[in-house]
Amino acid sequence: MRLNSTSLALLFMSILFISPVATAQDRPKADQPPVPPASKTQVILLGTGNPAPNPDRSGPAVAVVVNNSTFIVDAGVGVVRRAEKAARDKGIPALRTSYLDKVFITHLHSDHTLGLADLILTPAVVGRNGSIAVYGPPGVASMTTHLLAAYEQDIRMRINGFEKGDPKAYRVNTHEIEPGIIYDDGRTKVTAIPVKHGSWKYAFGYRFDTPDRCVVISGDTARSQDLIDAAKGCDVLVHEVYSAQTLAQLFSSGSQRYHSTFHTSGVELGKIAAEVKPGILVLYHQLWGDPKSRSSPKSA
Ligand SMILES: [Zn+2]
Ligand SMILES: [Zn+2]
Repeated sequence: MRLNSTSLALLFMSILFISPVATAQDRPKADQPPVPPASKTQVILLGTGNPAPNPDRSGPAVAVVVNNSTFIVDAGVGVVRRAEKAARDKGIPALRTSYLDKVFITHLHSDHTLGLADLILTPAVVGRNGSIAVYGPPGVASMTTHLLAAYEQDIRMRINGFEKGDPKAYRVNTHEIEPGIIYDDGRTKVTAIPVKHGSWKYAFGYRFDTPDRCVVISGDTARSQDLIDAAKGCDVLVHEVYSAQTLAQLFSSGSQRYHSTFHTSGVELGKIAAEVKPGILVLYHQLWGDPKSRSSPKSA
């Protein structure tokens, strides 16, 4: 499978919601009615942007919904509102704000975590039934502790003031992870995959094995053999990408070096896709270079 930058971009533009993921085996024969699947996995791109404040792209966040259970990967800016919009517009009740109770952070870059306070607090304000679980690399526990400290007055007022909020909804169970299986509820298994994101000591992609699908989300990464091995033959590969060609025109050689050690170019991704052979490849965290914006990110 050979993909150039143009075809990758077209592929992305044609795919925003994958619900459910279709494979050749799923297609009914002409004279047979479709058989509903016993389990239904949905992948929803809540945000496909990067640090640049592009008003048309929210920060990086992906939802994997397995029946009524929601797994959020990364908490970019806008994550809660984008989930609520998908719940309303696409009829996915598991994405209602009050049901957001699990998040898997790939790494601690701000574009992936600026929405974490939102994800902790807003569902609690509107009535989440219990705590939120936060999975992420070493350092994520310190981040959540400091976020809760930053909002201490707000939390105290909402619990003890007129709202009489549920204290349990404001609790955070944080899990600092290592490579391997980090979550298994008997239906969905989540595996953390170490990836190469420049000088970050800890950065992960995630593989979701559900009763009907295998979904792999790269997080931010340069070409990573561990990710390629873990993703081989998966149904859906959601992978980050940048345009080396555009960056060469717009940015300094230092910035180009940065991107080549922290991220994956469209040409490299084409080769990765040829190795992995996913059922479908979806692009996110796209860095095409935006000539309109002087604030296109030097780092992401
Ligand atoms: Zn990053
Ligand atoms: Zn990023």
